[in-house]
Amino acid sequence: MNKKLSVSTICVQGGWQPKNGEPRILPIYQSTTFKYDTTEQMARLFDLEESGYFYTRLQNPTNDAVASKIAALEGGVGAMLTSSGQAANFYAVFNICEAGDHFISSSAIYGGTFNLFGVTMKKLGIECTFVDPDASEEELAKAFRPNTKLVFGETIANPGMNVLDIEKFARVAHAHGVPLIVDNTFATPVNCRPLEWGADIVTHSTTKYMDGHATSVGGVLVDGGKFDWDAHADKFPGLTTPDASYHGLTYTKKFGNAAYLTKATAQLMRDMGSIQSPFNAFLVNLGLETLHLRMQRHCENAQKVAEYLQSHPKVAWVRYCGLEGDKYYELGKKYLSNGSCGVLSFGVKGSRDDAARLMDNFKFIAIVTHVADVRTCVLHPASHTHRQLSDEQLIEAGVAPDLIRLSVGIEDVDDIIADLEQALAAL
Ligand SMILES: *Cc1c(COP(=O)(O)O)cnc(C)c1O
Repeated sequence: MNKKLSVSTICVQGGWQPKNGEPRILPIYQSTTFKYDTTEQMARLFDLEESGYFYTRLQNPTNDAVASKIAALEGGVGAMLTSSGQAANFYAVFNICEAGDHFISSSAIYGGTFNLFGVTMKKLGIECTFVDPDASEEELAKAFRPNTKLVFGETIANPGMNVLDIEKFARVAHAHGVPLIVDNTFATPVNCRPLEWGADIVTHSTTKYMDGHATSVGGVLVDGGKFDWDAHADKFPGLTTPDASYHGLTYTKKFGNAAYLTKATAQLMRDMGSIQSPFNAFLVNLGLETLHLRMQRHCENAQKVAEYLQSHPKVAWVRYCGLEGDKYYELGKKYLSNGSCGVLSFGVKGSRDDAARLMDNFKFIAIVTHVADVRTCVLHPASHTHRQLSDEQLIEAGVAPDLIRLSVGIEDVDDIIADLEQALAAL
């Protein structure tokens, strides 16, 4: 695909490139396996001597077409679809961390990722230090240890709505010889491409805007292909020394700037198997075809809703980086110049119970454990997604106990505001 095409065109035209007489629309290769004429041909695939399909856990043509569209959107060298966003973030870290290693993450991240990093990774012997996303470079530098292998953050934190200073995090990571991994779920490549700002690896929960219609749980891992693993070979032995499970091949030697992605596919996916189903990949692709249009409408609507809420006497605070005076307005202008996303958070005056009562007053705005689809929806993280976290952890993760997360959809914005209006009036 021509790299000079714009993001909107890649949304529509990227990925599947039919040859003469082939289906115009991406086919669903709903097949676990692929047939070969000789044992020799199949053996070469198993040795990674040739690329080709043999088993869908490792590669599938439908998944590959969607992954290549997402890689093109993000400006990476390749991508791998996973069964969920959780799997994508797990693979992103585990691909270069093993027992005894350490990594650093912004504390303003999705609750599921916070648990994964703080609790489950620890059980694997991998320790994570959470840092304040607004910390200075000097403060961030203090979190590094000799065994630190990567730095992680979210472009726009779910649900804190903090905007990550990607260049700052990348500078500190690179000064310590490790890559920056950015979860770009909320911004999507339509509004931000972290690789262009210095990130090395990008992840997504495709469950959110990429699918956009709340049909399929999925994730993706994108390799930027620019991090020089060999320059820090002692830190990344999994990439720079022979892999016993592939007859001693060395990923950086054999696959160059696709070493990280190839290891994730050939080794982690082979062994752990959290592959996305081709049917879900097909649905994600349909979502991607309109991502650029939907993001524009989500952002326009969210901006109007944020301004409406900010001026409402019953609303205590609104967090949306598109609002002038928001703590992240300047970072938003820099990294998200076309708009941020449709999600905003706010608190109502009164108690934590008032927040819960407001939720029950909505008509079509639905209470769901989801964000970032075409329908406007709402969630109270302290009672729902983040209820496993203590009050201190909630605040550390940038989630106030009264925080309501509103995911503004692509309905007519006047109807969304009218629903908010009647719900607030009844409070
Ligand atoms: C939802 C979400 C995840 C987890 O993704 P799933 O697809 O639900 O597993 C990770 N990161 C962010 C920013 C998310 O919003």
